[in-house]
Amino acid sequence: MSKCLLCHQPLRPPMTLAQFWCWQPLPVPVVCQRCIQQFDRISATHCPQCGRQQTKMTVCHDCDRWGDQRLQNHAVYTYNEAMKAYMQQYKFQGDYALRQVMMAPLQQALMRETYDVLVPIPVNQETWQARGFNQVTGWLRNQPFQQVLLVTADHKEQPQSAKTRQQRLLTQQPFSLAPNAARVLAGKQILLLDDVYTTGRTLRHAATQIYLGGAKAVTSLTLAR
Ligand SMILES: [Zn+2]
Ligand SMILES: [Zn+2]
Repeated sequence: MSKCLLCHQPLRPPMTLAQFWCWQPLPVPVVCQRCIQQFDRISATHCPQCGRQQTKMTVCHDCDRWGDQRLQNHAVYTYNEAMKAYMQQYKFQGDYALRQVMMAPLQQALMRETYDVLVPIPVNQETWQARGFNQVTGWLRNQPFQQVLLVTADHKEQPQSAKTRQQRLLTQQPFSLAPNAARVLAGKQILLLDDVYTTGRTLRHAATQIYLGGAKAVTSLTLAR
């Protein structure tokens, strides 16, 4: 019997017809119901700009202060303890098998987005060498994407509080465009894909470059916010 990728308990197939018709994370589950329920799905009421879970559909405090109306983000889950633990194991311990846990939820989320070209946020060379994979493209199953962004500087997200507004505005653009970018982006609607939206800085830098490449519109999707 296969085991849950997260808690390693044996996976039992759904018992009842009711369970069968319920939303399932994957046709062949890779995590147990108890584990998948630890992840907190963002509902229809969220910040219209960054996608944060809220009780109202109004622009959240952070977006009001720091936001950039050129970029609208949607997120699938809240960045709760379960998601932090998952990211820790997947990204920082480099457990590539864990990509399967989020493949189906991400696939469903992508189907709800409107876009012409999917552009994942790349990882820098150092991370690539240490981890051996890009955590974002790891979640993609058969969805086509274009890697038109190149990393030229470190783009690790830092807590909003760690910097003053002035410092944040001065942060270096970490991305450049790949040689084929203009051909891919010209006149197209682009969806950026990243793991976690923290301050939105990474996505805003990416969006700036994508617009420079000739895109008509840019929105973003993250697994967590
Ligand atoms: Zn489990
Ligand atoms: Zn917001």
